This record gives sequence, structure tokens and C-alpha cells, in this order.
Amino acid sequence: MSKAATESYGVGPLTSYSEDEQMFRASVREFAEGEIRPRVEEMDERARMAPEVLKQLFDLGLMGVETPEEYGGTGASFFMAIVGVEELSRVDPSVGVLMDVQNTLVNNALIRWGSPEQRKKYLPRLASETVGAYALSEAGSGSDAFAMQTRAVDKGDHYELTGRKLWITNGIEAGIFVVFANANPEAGYRGITAFVVEKGFEGFAVGKKENKLGIRASSTTEIILDGCKVPKENVLGEVGKGYKVSIETLNEGRIGIGAQMIGIARGALEHALRYTVEKLWRDSKIGAIYEGTSNMQLQTIAKLIIGK
Ligand SMILES: Cc1cc2nc3c(=O)[nH]c(=O)nc-3n(C[C@H](O)[C@H](O)[C@H](O)COP(=O)(O)OP(=O)(O)OC[C@H]3O[C@@H](n4cnc5c(N)ncnc54)[C@H](O)[C@@H]3O)c2cc1C
Repeated sequence: MSKAATESYGVGPLTSYSEDEQMFRASVREFAEGEIRPRVEEMDERARMAPEVLKQLFDLGLMGVETPEEYGGTGASFFMAIVGVEELSRVDPSVGVLMDVQNTLVNNALIRWGSPEQRKKYLPRLASETVGAYALSEAGSGSDAFAMQTRAVDKGDHYELTGRKLWITNGIEAGIFVVFANANPEAGYRGITAFVVEKGFEGFAVGKKENKLGIRASSTTEIILDGCKVPKENVLGEVGKGYKVSIETLNEGRIGIGAQMIGIARGALEHALRYTVEKLWRDSKIGAIYEGTSNMQLQTIAKLIIGK
């Protein structure tokens, strides 16, 4: 549909950005190109997120995009967060997913489901200095997330969480975890409850880190809960409503992962084009397979492709 046609229906095309969004996108791109790109190879090889990159993510407000300003966040839209994930992932999907989990899963869960006290306590930390993680999956419950075996036992003023979470993004860097456990297994998925767990809580430990093939600078770890003591005020939402917390946050988390994939695809395409163009200019090897296409023509095509 043409721009004029969409405007006549009173809606803009999905791909148009507001001025604010364009500026935000440009500033994230500048940061990604200037500060992340020079570190990508080393971070990937060492399977480690550079602390300077982490600090800058906080300083630029990228770790609390939707978080209201009263909690130290940027107070921007979900769409802005998604634009940020895409732009970071264009250069390094490890940084993109770290930001995605923080914004679309952890902050999102607290903004939607947190009590006023929980929001006041955790959102400012998550916007300024502390990485968050979202611990739902287990060895036997990935797609079938509600089959989780992690249990939460009511001990009066606190719950004791016992179980093992697997493949938890940001496990190494995080200080705050949204953890899901079943507080009433007889009720099936209606026993699942979400908790805000701090790294320092008794009985909490980060286990094995996966040695992945790609996106290596993003940590993916096991989380060990061995009678982990979680105060009752750290129940996120209601007891037995964790399934709702997870469904609703994952709906947005998946959009973030979609943006990560688009960012990767965009970065790969640009890389391939650059390589192709350089090759064309250097030795015309690719041109040689197109009989009858002159070097001049190929250079013109190449210029059109990269828009120079
Ligand atoms: C890099 C990485 C980071 C992750 N980060 C997090 C995180 O931060 N927090 C978290 O909680 N989890 C995380 N996960 C876990 C992720 O959510 C699970 O991997 C995902 O839910 C799939 O579960 P699974 O790996 O057990 O695969 P399975 O559920 O075993 O699925 C295996 C295959 O079977 C298919 N399948 C499954 N069920 C059915 C069915 N009923 N019918 C037909 N086909 C089916 C699936 O589509 C898939 O192709 C992460 C995983 C990875 C790889």
C-alpha cells in the first residue's frame, strides 16, 4: 500500500518512525558502532560481556527504556525498547539480548505486576546499575514451561525455593532474578508463582555456564535453588498467578527476540554487501561469472546497493 493510501485511512505505514524514534535509533546506532563494534570479536572469543559496555547501557538509559522516570528510567515506549534491541543486535546480538531480557521481561514483569514497594525497591536499581534475568525454563520444561519441577514451600514469613533452572540469559551478570516456582503442585499450573530473587539470598547460586556456538558474550547459565529463602513480600503478583505473569511477559519478550533476529539479519546483509562490493572492486571475480557485464556496470550496481 502506498504512503498516500495508508495516510488516507488515518494510519501511518508500520515502518515509519516518529522524530523521537529516529533520533533514538540514530543514537543507539552510534553507540553500537562506536563502542560495541570494536569489542565484538574479543567479547565473543572470551564469551564475556565487557563491563564498559554494560556501564554504558545503563548510562544511556537503555536498561530502563519503559521504566517510568520517577523510578530513574527513560519513560519511553515499548517500541523504543524494541528499536534499541534491533539496533544493538545489528552489531552484536549478545548485547541486544541482554538489553531485551532486561526491558521486555524483567522490567516489564515488575512494571506490570510489581507492588508499589517492589517497584520502588527494584526498578531504580534495574535502570541504573543491576542486570536482571528471567528464570522460567528447566531441563524438562522448555516449551512446556508449566511442567516445571521447581517448588516453593510456604515457611510462614518466607518461601523456600528448591529446583534448577536452565539456560538463563544474563545469569552471570544479573543481580536480580524473576524466578518461577510451583507453590501448589496439586493445583497444576495454577500453583505457579513468580518471585523476585536477589543474587545474595541464602540458597541461591549460579551454576554451569553454557559454552555456546554463537551469541557467546551473552551468558546462559544454570540457576541452583537449594532451599532459597525468599521473603513473602517478594512474591511478584499473586501466589498461583505466575502462569499469567509468564504468559504476558513472554508475549513481549518474543517481540524482543524477533527484533534481535531482524538486527542480526540486517547486520549480516550489510556485512555481505560490503564484502561483495569490496570483492567486486578489488578483482571483479564475481563479475567474471556474469558474462557480458562490464566492470563499470558492476561498480555502478555495487554503488546502488550500498547507496553511495
Ligand atoms: C540461548 C538461550 C537463552 C535462553 N534464555 C532463557 C532465559 O533467559 N530464561 C528462560 O527461562 N529460558 C531461556 N531459554 C530457554 C528457552 O526458553 C527454551 O530453550 C525454549 O523454551 C525451548 O525449550 P527446550 O529447549 O526445552 O526445547 P523443547 O521444548 O524440548 O523443544 C524441542 C523441539 O520440539 C518442539 N516441540 C516442543 N513441544 C512441541 C509440541 N507439543 N508439538 C510439536 N513440537 C514441539 C519445539 O518447537 C522444538 O523444536 C534460553 C534458551 C537458549 C537456547
